[in-house]
Amino acid sequence: MSEAKSLIQSEIDYELSGKQTGFLRLPYSVHRSAYGWIPVPIVMLKNGSGPTALVMSGNHGDEYEGQVTLTKLCQNLDADDIQGRLIILPMANYPAAHAGLRTSPFDAGNLNRSFPGDPGGNPTQMIAHYIEEILMPMCDYFFDLHSGGSSLRYPATVLRKRGDDGDQEAALEALQQSFDAPFGFIFGGRNDPRVSSAAAWRKGVLGLTTELGGAGTVTPEILAIAERGVNRLLHHIGLLPGYEPDATRGMRRMELTGQDYFVYARDEGLFEPYVDLLAEVKAGEPAGAIHHPETPWVAPTICHFEHDGLAICQRIPARVELGDCLFHLATDI
Ligand SMILES: [Zn+2]
Repeated sequence: MSEAKSLIQSEIDYELSGKQTGFLRLPYSVHRSAYGWIPVPIVMLKNGSGPTALVMSGNHGDEYEGQVTLTKLCQNLDADDIQGRLIILPMANYPAAHAGLRTSPFDAGNLNRSFPGDPGGNPTQMIAHYIEEILMPMCDYFFDLHSGGSSLRYPATVLRKRGDDGDQEAALEALQQSFDAPFGFIFGGRNDPRVSSAAAWRKGVLGLTTELGGAGTVTPEILAIAERGVNRLLHHIGLLPGYEPDATRGMRRMELTGQDYFVYARDEGLFEPYVDLLAEVKAGEPAGAIHHPETPWVAPTICHFEHDGLAICQRIPARVELGDCLFHLATDI
């Protein structure tokens, strides 16, 4: 393996057995630190022979459920628990995660819109390039733990693409089922080539992503599902042979097939939702009102659902602008 293609230097030797901890050092020369580097934390556990998985969170820095789950995993796992190689990046876009922001305060980069990245680009592009070109080629599996972040909220949901053929479809379905989240979601249509799951696809790595809560916080309920799910997933792929999964609780299989599953703000103002997360709604039903407290004599703008379905994602901040996503739906497969 050569790292010559990236200026990022790893303190981890990916071929060594045992538990290693350290940083990916991303050179960042600025006024206050001429020879400094940005510290992207990394933990690797390697033991015996088995698959390699990269598990990451903090792709979006304001999505905390995965960051807490993976930090606890780094604390709790030792190399003898592993059969294979597990690489953990709890704060993949470190500047964004350190700031508690979706995007990096250093370059405004959204890591999940930055793949395949650029080894000579800004810090976010350099991280994307390192993940796609250095880490993913070592991997059999890739799991990227997202949530709704500051502006959205989801129930605990595991997402995947459709497989390219029957075998891949079966493998992805089994992976998704192994997490045993209450909701399992399959993307329809074409994937954005700039997201991490598209990077994994390009490298032939089987992957899943999640939407585990959001609203800029963590809850005991979501964390329990996330921790259990990650352990089950790692056990399923053979990396955590000693973990004993409890009985499955069942996953509701959902999909999203078109733009009419989304409700967007058609105006600016204060959004009053008429339904809660996980409401079952009908096409034509009002989703909520956008009020105009600056001109309270102007009637509110009513937004409508354009499809039947389950409200699986809801906007959190009440202040909205034209084009903000207010809800999106999912339907049973
Ligand atoms: Zn995200």
